[in-house]
Amino acid sequence: MESDISCDVCIIGGNIAGSYLAYNIASNGLSVVVVEQNRIPGVPMQCAGIVSQRLTNIVDIDPSIIINRVDTAWLISENGKKVSVSIRDNPYILDRVKLDQYFYHKAENIGVKYLLGEKFSKYEIHTKNGIEIVQITTKKRTINAQMIVGCDGPNSLVAKLHGIEHKLIPAMQIRAFFPQPHNSVRMYFKKKWKNLFGWVIPEGNGICRIGLGCKYNLRTSFQGFITDLNITKSEIIEKFGGQILIGYPKKIAFHRAILLGDAAGMVKATTGGGINTLLKASKTAKEVILEAFSRNDFTKRFFITHYQHSSEIRRLKMNILLHYFVRVIMLSLTQEEYEQSMLLLHQPKTRELLLKYGDMDFPIKFIFKMLLRVDLWRYIIKILPSILNKVPQILQEFLDISKY
Ligand SMILES: Cc1cc2nc3c(=O)[nH]c(=O)nc-3n(C[C@H](O)[C@H](O)[C@H](O)COP(=O)(O)OP(=O)(O)OC[C@H]3O[C@@H](n4cnc5c(N)ncnc54)[C@H](O)[C@@H]3O)c2cc1C
Repeated sequence: MESDISCDVCIIGGNIAGSYLAYNIASNGLSVVVVEQNRIPGVPMQCAGIVSQRLTNIVDIDPSIIINRVDTAWLISENGKKVSVSIRDNPYILDRVKLDQYFYHKAENIGVKYLLGEKFSKYEIHTKNGIEIVQITTKKRTINAQMIVGCDGPNSLVAKLHGIEHKLIPAMQIRAFFPQPHNSVRMYFKKKWKNLFGWVIPEGNGICRIGLGCKYNLRTSFQGFITDLNITKSEIIEKFGGQILIGYPKKIAFHRAILLGDAAGMVKATTGGGINTLLKASKTAKEVILEAFSRNDFTKRFFITHYQHSSEIRRLKMNILLHYFVRVIMLSLTQEEYEQSMLLLHQPKTRELLLKYGDMDFPIKFIFKMLLRVDLWRYIIKILPSILNKVPQILQEFLDISKY
């Protein structure tokens, strides 16, 4: 056993959510310990690394983290029908490992202590002489802190200790040499993959990130996917697995504890994207943690009021639920209806609206503008009766996921 450590805040998970928060609160004078089970933060990469340009409005990053930008998305259906849509804000393709390590180094440089290769296993709150302390146990030692933050990703143990079991879709991804124009991504939708999609994302150097999130038979489906793309073994550089989180838990704040990032369900269910969402939420998390220390109030009530129920986190939750709603509707479409909706995306008016209002983080404006276009209703009307028929099923699925 190693010697025990004391700190103000103990963060579990040293990837983007953990390190960015650690950096922000440590810059404000708190002593922070990060427990990370991997020996090198950010490795292995479990991400396709595509984010909207909003990233650089939220955080300052080293420009070398952005390795490519894309302006077109090809949507490809089961029977090979293709529709290309322009992506308004030319999303960034990131060197995800570099992003995680950027904040890790920044945090470490200002004194955050990282316990790498150390797995968190439980925490308890003890009271001694009327003073409460959070006692965090890893395989190697005990850490005493005023509070704990669960940034431990989709399989978050901190969340599980509070009875939260996230709904996850397994994903596989390879980096491979693949002849894809550097400015376009491809998204493949097949009914049998149920629940997510396949993607090809160019790094801009002749190498692509090719992945699939799929609820059933992932291994076989992924093998079939890369065989269909004619990718041979010798073209594959590396392989990763990962879990994409779907849904949003009812609780993310507890006595002397909060959740952030994937651990808190902060992922968009349409795209599986979580980076921008968690970085935004991290600013609220920072404020609330600093406030808790200044008031010496670490109660569940304080964290629920000022974090879980804060206007920023509520807005974020509504947006995540909207993405989930869009996803449930997409899943309810038959193949034929799906093809119809692709036809809708093909219309010049839709493309114009996409260019003007398309936003991979906030789709509400685009959806609203589409619904206002009477000339597009002849396409919408073809799928609407079927959607209306399925309203009870859609609502049931929506309610199930939004209340776990
Ligand atoms: C295949 C795939 C593709 C994706 N593509 C995109 C994309 O293109 N764009 C986008 O925005 N988002 C994408 N995402 C989502 C994005 O990767 C996540 O939202 C983001 O990584 C969440 O960051 P995090 O720090 O909250 O969690 P994670 O990145 O999961 O980090 C959690 C950390 O906690 C550590 N940990 C877990 N348990 C313990 C423990 N018990 N003890 C110690 N340490 C522990 C883990 O080792 C890990 O380092 C993708 C996800 C997957 C799986």
